[in-house]
Amino acid sequence: MSVLETQPPRFTPEQVAEIAADVFGVRGVARDLGSERDATYLIDGGGSDAVLKISNSGEDEAVLDLEQAAIAHALAVDPELPIARPLADRATFDGHHVRLFERLHGRAGGPELDERAVYEFAATHARLNVALRSFFHPAARRDLLWSLEQTPRLRPLLGAIDDTGRRALVEAVVDTFEERVVPQWLRLRAQVVHGDFTLGNVLLGADDRISGIVDFGDCAFGAQAGDFAIAVASLVRGRPREDVFRIARIAVDGYSSRLPFEPDELAVLGHLVAARLAMIVAISAWRVRRYPENAEYIQAEDEDSWALLELFAELGPDAVAQELGAPRAPAATPELAERRAETLGALLTPLTYAQPVHTVRGQGVWLFDADGNRLLDAYNNVPVVGHCHPRVTEAVVRQTRKLNTHARYLYEPLVELAERLLATMPPAAGLDTVMLVNSGSEANDMAWRIATAVTGSGNAIVTEHAYHGVSDAIAALSPEEWPPGYVPSNVTCIHVPSLETKNLDALAATFLDGGLTSDGIWIPAAADVAALVEATHAAGGLFVADEVQAGFGRFGDHLWSFEHYGVTPDIVTLGKPMGNGYPVAAVITRRELVERFPSAGEVFSTFGGNPVAAQAALAVLDVIEDERLLERVARVGALLLSTLGELAEVRGRGLLVGVQLEGPDEAARTVDRLREAGILIGRTGPRGDVLKIRPPLVFGEEHVLLLADALREA
Ligand code: PMP
Repeated sequence: MSVLETQPPRFTPEQVAEIAADVFGVRGVARDLGSERDATYLIDGGGSDAVLKISNSGEDEAVLDLEQAAIAHALAVDPELPIARPLADRATFDGHHVRLFERLHGRAGGPELDERAVYEFAATHARLNVALRSFFHPAARRDLLWSLEQTPRLRPLLGAIDDTGRRALVEAVVDTFEERVVPQWLRLRAQVVHGDFTLGNVLLGADDRISGIVDFGDCAFGAQAGDFAIAVASLVRGRPREDVFRIARIAVDGYSSRLPFEPDELAVLGHLVAARLAMIVAISAWRVRRYPENAEYIQAEDEDSWALLELFAELGPDAVAQELGAPRAPAATPELAERRAETLGALLTPLTYAQPVHTVRGQGVWLFDADGNRLLDAYNNVPVVGHCHPRVTEAVVRQTRKLNTHARYLYEPLVELAERLLATMPPAAGLDTVMLVNSGSEANDMAWRIATAVTGSGNAIVTEHAYHGVSDAIAALSPEEWPPGYVPSNVTCIHVPSLETKNLDALAATFLDGGLTSDGIWIPAAADVAALVEATHAAGGLFVADEVQAGFGRFGDHLWSFEHYGVTPDIVTLGKPMGNGYPVAAVITRRELVERFPSAGEVFSTFGGNPVAAQAALAVLDVIEDERLLERVARVGALLLSTLGELAEVRGRGLLVGVQLEGPDEAARTVDRLREAGILIGRTGPRGDVLKIRPPLVFGEEHVLLLADALREA
């Protein structure tokens, strides 16, 4: 606190001009630029201008070193940063340290700055912090009252606020800080920061971008979020109430464009901005009592700060924090279910389970609900490498930050993905062409279009309770979706698991889900699958291996289920697990078939194969390899089958397992009992009497045991 308690240096402009001339040989008229604890003057030499800074005699020399070293470091890392450079070595005059800085040109900004200017201001701030990240100096651990970390130390100053209502506002902010920020403080990213990156310490060029960054006098080691909160408080001051949070969020965007925030930082940002405002008014009240002659400078920001503190108090700290990025508490489950029903309409998939699952977070094989319970996910195949796997999440986030566009432009991830997918296909199969789309339905729809175009037929074979997708054409190939008694005239259903065919007419395609998932989970004999492929070809049709369910290693022995059967499909369709939840799907086939597609023929699906989707899919393939998931699936899947086999009749392969129960009521009851016990499974089959167990492939032996115990209980 010493420099804030010591008398600032007092010189007349004439004396300052003389000091500049004597110490640095710089001549010109001295004009006061205003300062809290130093004397800062423009030495206007009519062209050869400079800024002279005479330090408070209480200033520690090590701190002046710190300032200088920080500036030098930032400029060495990012020479384009518009920081005012020192023009000479530090000198002393009459017991004061004196420094000479380059004069930068520009104007001061205020509440009139538009969204673009605010965004750029914050982006430059982040750039400075990137440049300072690798910097340290022993004096950076200085004890500075202005550091937001010191908010609790405002308490003894509050007596200087005369108005009791206002004093209570500040006290409440300090209380919140102690409750919500102090316990988190040591988790926040910290580094040497400018410490006072505000509109008062930057100059703006004609383009409204920062043309000068000055005054490293508050430079210290501190939380980045605190440093940014100081900037936000400056950007929102003097704005109409309805603009305050909008502008603050734009600043968050600008900063994040170069240096993304961590969730913990956003969670406390609102409290940090409030603390900065509280600090301004509290320190001001305390200092103005000591230096009434400097009142104008000291109190310059008071009125705006009080107005903001009042606005924040009206909203309450939670609402303020949420406006700036803190997560909201989840809605109450029944209320959310009601809102869902009201807005999503009758065609909507009903919620699963008698007691719906209100999910808020996922990790590995676990889902977490709004009440904080964790649920073992033994149902979802989409998060194939585990919910929110960091490899996939980061791949998506990184690519989203960099570029997301469409396949009419050339970019690497799409091509790399196509190459990687083709490399997983058996070499002799001739599968040499990849088309990327967005869902399993779309992939099957594309496969169907190719098949009908190539064969000239409109006839299909599917298993008797198959599901292949939602489009008009594919719903017609999905008996699971048909109303009772309805069979489209172009479709022949074959029995499961024999897959036996009779007297086929000219055929376009046979679609087969390798795990017969909606048929009740069956693993047909390889010879029966081979016979089906042969019969399909004999009838002039194409064999479509629908790997949307059984692909991506679910069987454990191979990446694709058709490999397990030893057959060669004409078309392979992929979906669900392909992006671990990010929508991405594919059709893989032979070039010769694609080239026979109608001559009108180019196919474009806006999101198909976009760079982010491609990165998600690449990350999934990487994780499957790196974590040796196929081996794991083979091992854990065998245990799952044998363990559950002691309880009931089971079918399946790898981590696709069906448990045959007596009837649909028993199955429904069991699914709900397991859900109550915190384990998610489903049911399937034409009668709905088969438990469907199809967990993420990171399911382990310990999870098998949990599941088996719960099932035994149920
Ligand atoms: N094929 C199979 C075998 C499926 O199980 C599904 C989805 N359950 C689809 C295709 C359709 O995929 P999507 O829901 O992504 O359109």
